[in-house]
Amino acid sequence: MQIFGSLAREKFRKFIFIFFALSSLLPILIMIFIGINYVLPNLTPDQIDKLRPVLSYGLLIMFLFSSLSFFLLSQWMGSLENLTEEIKSKSVGILEGVKDSEEEINEITTIRNIVEGLHAELQEKMNQLNGYSKKLITSNIKLSELSVTDDLTGLYNRRHFDLRLDEEIGRSERYGHDLALIMIDIDGFKQYNDILGHQAGDVLLTKISQLFRDNIRKTDIPFRYGGDEFAVILPECTIKGAESVANTLSEVVSGYAFDGMEKLPSDKVTISCGVTSYSKGMEDFAREADRLLYAAKNAGRGLVRSSPKIN
Ligand code: GH3
Ligand code: MG
Repeated sequence: MQIFGSLAREKFRKFIFIFFALSSLLPILIMIFIGINYVLPNLTPDQIDKLRPVLSYGLLIMFLFSSLSFFLLSQWMGSLENLTEEIKSKSVGILEGVKDSEEEINEITTIRNIVEGLHAELQEKMNQLNGYSKKLITSNIKLSELSVTDDLTGLYNRRHFDLRLDEEIGRSERYGHDLALIMIDIDGFKQYNDILGHQAGDVLLTKISQLFRDNIRKTDIPFRYGGDEFAVILPECTIKGAESVANTLSEVVSGYAFDGMEKLPSDKVTISCGVTSYSKGMEDFAREADRLLYAAKNAGRGLVRSSPKIN
């Protein structure tokens, strides 16, 4: 690269130009010198007359050829200069900030600088692009989280419940693993809203969601099914285990001192739960849990009803 850089340098080009010019003129001059000093004095006038046209035309042709090659060389160098200037003018901006360690800018250093400039620009764009794609990934994750999350409680929403339940049923079918479901509804929540206000009702929903989260296993998945109704999918869990979880949740809620509870006719908030486990080919899994929830409601509220019965 260094050699090519030197060859293309302007000083070196001038040197080649002069060398070429001399190498074409010098033989003619030498021939003239030899002719005048050593050949002509030894020739008779007759011989000189015979040789004159040959020598004149020969010298003229040689002179013309030298001039032509001299002219062509100068043209070629001129176009090389133009090329340099054109490249420089077209690369304004790209060359900015690129270090120029050479004394002179020639075509090769110019092109090298352009490539370096383009590379730096490309690198910068790549970094920018990486930044954008990271942001895009983050916002996509946020967006997909938002689309499956309930705004108020932060639990998964009903839409996600349907998807997850299908997935878990598929897994249970394929691997024969246990799968249980708890449907939960807050008792007398309408009255809670009426007495303490809708905002307090929201706080209660949020707090109860937190209690659910804190009292289930990491592998259990809690959902806000809608209004004051919740669901928990329990993969790898028997009906006995699920009933135990429902009882725990019920106790935790009824034992919690929610704000403004003293204003309520009863001194606690209770939940009703319907618990069921999945069996192969079952078509109304969620409906069965819902049916049991309403059985718990009808039986007096604050209760857990489960099926199939534990032996
Ligand atoms: P039950 O014991 O039969 O469940 O009686 P309930 O009063 O809880 O009756 P129901 O479950 O039918 O009432 C649900 C109430 O929940 C009615 C509705 O105003 C209220 N609700 C639904 N969504 C929200 C919410 O996002 N925030 C608040 N504060 N209230 C809600
Ligand atoms: Mg209710």
